[in-house]
Amino acid sequence: MAKLYFYYSAMNAGKSTTLLQAAYNYRERGLRPLLLTPEVNSPDGSGVISSRIGVQSPAHLFSLGESLLNVCRHEHSVQSIACVFVDEAQFLTRRQVHELGDVADELSVPVLTYGLRTDFQGNLFEGSQFLLAWADVISEIKTICHCGRKATMVLRIDSDGRPIGSGEQIKVGGNESYISVCRQHFKSGLGTNNQPELPFEDLGKDAAR
Ligand SMILES: [Zn+2]
Repeated sequence: MAKLYFYYSAMNAGKSTTLLQAAYNYRERGLRPLLLTPEVNSPDGSGVISSRIGVQSPAHLFSLGESLLNVCRHEHSVQSIACVFVDEAQFLTRRQVHELGDVADELSVPVLTYGLRTDFQGNLFEGSQFLLAWADVISEIKTICHCGRKATMVLRIDSDGRPIGSGEQIKVGGNESYISVCRQHFKSGLGTNNQPELPFEDLGKDAAR
């Protein structure tokens, strides 16, 4: 039985790199992967999945109203798909996550999704919520905070290097950047902990990189 996988992490853990490497492994064996990436993450409409280390690949650009089951069914009928890869899977809708389960169950094609678990306020994204609920396999791609602990949270940083505590969940463009931090530095960054302030002086430097 084909499975639905969710690989989650904070920012800059190498999700896209991992996705592109896995897709390459399929191609190398003469098998066809289908790569999907959401429009919401691609303001220029390029439909390219790219990683920070310079690897990239064209992908099918989908809207949040699009049926991913129909996309996969159509592509599979044109030429057999060995595996579906979804980048930025946190942006998927509940319905689309359900459909990716259908791709695994009805088309017997494995689906590997990669995305953030939580947003800059520590809330689950819709896609991540239902992937955590419904995926057969859930696996964390680990990255580290500037303090050396495992980073599990994401802070939105303004152009002056200060963490931002409110705003839209999905914001494309603008001067904000994102950094991955441990839970303690997430709380101290947003001023929501009752613990003594942890050292935070490196944050601005991280954000400026
Ligand atoms: Zn930390």
